[in-house]
Amino acid sequence: MREIRYISTRGCAERVSASAAIVRGIAPDGGLYVPEDFPCMDRSLHELQQMSYQELAYEVMKLFLTDYSRDELMDCVIRAYDSKFDYPAIAPLVHPGDRHVLELYHGRTLAFKDMALSILPYLMTTAARKQHITEEIVILTATSGDTGKAALEGFANVPGVRIIVFYPQEGVSDIQRLQMVTQQGDNTAVIAMQGNFDDAQRAVKEIFTDPEEARKMREAGYVWSSANSINIGRLIPQIVYYYWAYLRMTDRPGFTLGEQVDFAVPTGNFGNILAAHYAGRLGLPVGRLICASNRNHVLTDFFRTGEYDAKRPFYVTTSPSMDILVSSNLERLLYEICGRDTGKVASLLAALSSEGQYRLDKGDFMALDGFWAGYAEEDAVADTIRRVYRESGYVMDPHTAVAAAVADQYETVRADEGRRSNPLVIISTASPYKFPQSVLGALGKLEPYTAEALSAASGRPVPQPIRELFSLPVRHTRVCTRENALKEIYQVLGL
Ligand SMILES: *Cc1c(COP(=O)(O)O)cnc(C)c1O
Repeated sequence: MREIRYISTRGCAERVSASAAIVRGIAPDGGLYVPEDFPCMDRSLHELQQMSYQELAYEVMKLFLTDYSRDELMDCVIRAYDSKFDYPAIAPLVHPGDRHVLELYHGRTLAFKDMALSILPYLMTTAARKQHITEEIVILTATSGDTGKAALEGFANVPGVRIIVFYPQEGVSDIQRLQMVTQQGDNTAVIAMQGNFDDAQRAVKEIFTDPEEARKMREAGYVWSSANSINIGRLIPQIVYYYWAYLRMTDRPGFTLGEQVDFAVPTGNFGNILAAHYAGRLGLPVGRLICASNRNHVLTDFFRTGEYDAKRPFYVTTSPSMDILVSSNLERLLYEICGRDTGKVASLLAALSSEGQYRLDKGDFMALDGFWAGYAEEDAVADTIRRVYRESGYVMDPHTAVAAAVADQYETVRADEGRRSNPLVIISTASPYKFPQSVLGALGKLEPYTAEALSAASGRPVPQPIRELFSLPVRHTRVCTRENALKEIYQVLGL
């Protein structure tokens, strides 16, 4: 099999193996690792159709992780996708009314982040062994709500690893906060940061890419890595479920293997939807990718105009995991649409950090035509939750509802233009149990907004992690400012 190497989006000349890219998390020049060449799926859709989720995960991931042995990768896959998921086939494709919804929230933390963060710790410790890393790995993570918990759960008590999570003090849901501050595990730390997710993400990236800090850490016996989707080890496992969804569509009457499927993805940091794009690059018949945003619709504006403008008010919404103005994985798409011109990518991102904006030239803008973008205001989100429930009895969380609302906009536009649409799969990224207030409020129910009330409405049992949540002790109470983040890290590490 052809070996795949990884290079930085910003021009650093070094080509590294998959395991090196995963351990580092980010390239030395601050760019993101991307595959130098795209592999091609070497199995037919017909062969893939017969596979379990685990088998499929192996087939997709081996194309990218070419320096992992068969046994190493198999071992990672089997340990990751097991009974931690409360659905045996890992990710059900369900069909409420005339919609298709891929539920990615059956892992331990009830959000789609589990799909990648269940396996990342295994990929990372395997990579550390292959790279002969002797230092302890310190995973620095900024979270808009769900990554933090999924990363903590994945890395808790993993030998040789410490994990430190920063979450924005204002802006995560009550359940999300409680999930994080009750985290067990001697190697875990959770710190509230004043400000929003963009502040937290920037602070972490700055620490992470400071060569002087990296040197000091190495002397103290630590190396940094990242569990954010800047790490290519987060993205690769996410490609799998686009294949999975596609193959499960083939079980539907009237669907023929080989026809295109559109995906509507609730988007924040652009990792999930980028994995869909990568699936298409491998050869999956992906039609349109619908990039769905909430009231913080910087991406919608970008896809419509070619101008990325982060200088705008930041809103806290009912879909907090998408409250993001600086979407880091867009850099990987920019790299492709700019014809792999790393100088151009570097200068666009320099403009973003100094002026808060950049604009694509016309030719590059045209290269975005595989995407369609839209956004849903808060009332449209609530309205969609209510409408879907009324039509089909299905309860969706606010993030999923953003995607469903934007998918409806897209289909309306297509119909108005008199054009046929492909079958469309809505990507469901969180369990409604993470957001009982917003969901029950949207359904017009009366308080109290409890898990039991949600269970009564949806007819689904309360998931185990929610049932235990309220009886767990709070273990993490640290708070810091953006400027003090590094000091907190030193304290956590006892330096
Ligand atoms: C992280 C998250 C998103 C956004 O995904 P990106 O990969 O950052 O675009 C959407 N919904 C939920 C519930 C999430 O946790």
